Amino acid sequence: MEAAPGPEAPVTNPYAAAQRQFDRAADHLGLERGLRDILRAPQREVSVRFPVRLDDGSTRVFEGYRVQHNMSRGPAKGGVRFHPATDLDEVRALAMWMTWKCALVGVPFGGAKGGVACDPGSLSRGELEALTRRFTTELQGVIGPDVDIPAPDVGTNAQVMAWMMDTLSMHRGMLLPAVVTGKPLAVGGSEGRSDATGQGILDTVEFAAARIGMRLEGARVAVQGFGNVGEAAARLLDARGARIIAVTDVRGGARNADGMDPVLLREHLLATGSVAGAAGTAPISNEELLALDCDILVLAALEGQVTSRNAGRVRARIMAEGANGPTTPDADPILREHGVVVIPDILCNAGGVAVSYFEWVQNREAFPWSAEEVNARLGRMMTTAATEVWDRAERDGIDMRLAAHAIAVERVARATLVRGLYP
Ligand code: GLU
Repeated sequence: MEAAPGPEAPVTNPYAAAQRQFDRAADHLGLERGLRDILRAPQREVSVRFPVRLDDGSTRVFEGYRVQHNMSRGPAKGGVRFHPATDLDEVRALAMWMTWKCALVGVPFGGAKGGVACDPGSLSRGELEALTRRFTTELQGVIGPDVDIPAPDVGTNAQVMAWMMDTLSMHRGMLLPAVVTGKPLAVGGSEGRSDATGQGILDTVEFAAARIGMRLEGARVAVQGFGNVGEAAARLLDARGARIIAVTDVRGGARNADGMDPVLLREHLLATGSVAGAAGTAPISNEELLALDCDILVLAALEGQVTSRNAGRVRARIMAEGANGPTTPDADPILREHGVVVIPDILCNAGGVAVSYFEWVQNREAFPWSAEEVNARLGRMMTTAATEVWDRAERDGIDMRLAAHAIAVERVARATLVRGLYP
């Protein structure tokens, strides 16, 4: 077994990072040993290897995972990621973060995550559907509306969710809409779900800006990542009066100090595969974007982006973690020293799972809500959680990440304790 990294060692493995964050919270709370051991690692892990027939007639075997970190507070919940770099440790970390995220915003679910190591961009639509249906079949008995409910994440979308739902529904011989969330509206998806993570980012950025006396009108925003999350965050911040001065994606970046229209950036991305080269913009690299002179930096890509190596160069006043785990634990003290207000991932990006929960409730009630109702409830949930985190940080004299983890771990620990041990 790998030794725990020392305090100075840079943590690049996401699972080690998640455990380091947990340890800080457990120390702060003075959590007793038994509870620590229960909460520090996942409850259940499933690894599968499964074949898929490709369009050229060949067969390829893929590896997939579903990890359920904790189910003390409710059924497990979390996305499914299709990405070449996905492995068990990444999925473990993401599952653990889902547990804390749900507890923090008061969603009555535990935490899970799934993933398949694959490059969805290199698969045809038919291959992607076959991969999704076979992976779902492998997870039969593991996922279900009352036990574990998947949702979209990096590399998956509403269509993939529709295929997952259809596959399980066909196996059971009845429609099971509540088995996944983030579905298309046509099959029980929720109003507001596709923009929910971006909306939650806007809600928490508005909250933090108000607390530090920053006006959002004219605020300069840099966004790392222009997928489901980054695109929505940029569009909603722009609509709120902020100025999007830089955006990067996996292929490159675009910048313009006068501001760029996220709708035009998206059109350029759809036409060319990247935001790079959009009319009226200059190129910008990822490292340049992280170090850009701006007011708000939105991280909406992958884990491990802000590290001890580049944290000292961040010049934003607010750093909003739309991605899961974008900051390594050794970067946190550097950001704090530089006075960067970090809105931690388990708070900042919780809008996605919050509306997933609303979708699940609507499916179970068979009664859809209006977009207004979804967004009003989401806004209340995000603002309540943000207030709790901010107040806890002030009360205990700690940073927002530790405050968020302390609140979440405390809630899960309480649920575990009150349920007691079986048998
Ligand atoms: N994948 C999203 C996340 O990381 C959403 C999960 C969900 O809706 O279950 O929070």
